Amino acid sequence: MNVFACVACAQVDFPRRLLCPSCGRDEFVEVDAAQGSVEDVTTLHHRAGKAGGDIAYIATVLTHAGPRVIVRLERLLAPGAVVSLRLESDGAIVGFSD
Ligand SMILES: [Zn+2]
Repeated sequence: MNVFACVACAQVDFPRRLLCPSCGRDEFVEVDAAQGSVEDVTTLHHRAGKAGGDIAYIATVLTHAGPRVIVRLERLLAPGAVVSLRLESDGAIVGFSD
């Protein structure tokens, strides 16, 4: 996945902003943010009428490019784990480790 760096001041954000929150410019370049470090993890129990239900692991990840993003982990990982990030077609970010 990519994050967006301001061409004027190098502030990096995700998702893309209309204007840079730091300097107000509106030009960005895409920066690769393929990996990040897990900061904390929340376990969500979905109750969609299914016995047992699904469990989702939602994590705050500090990308190596700078911004923090909220991702769904493919499996439970501890804070500090390095994950690869993938942007799904619905806009959700998935974190996975090999
Ligand atoms: Zn800027």
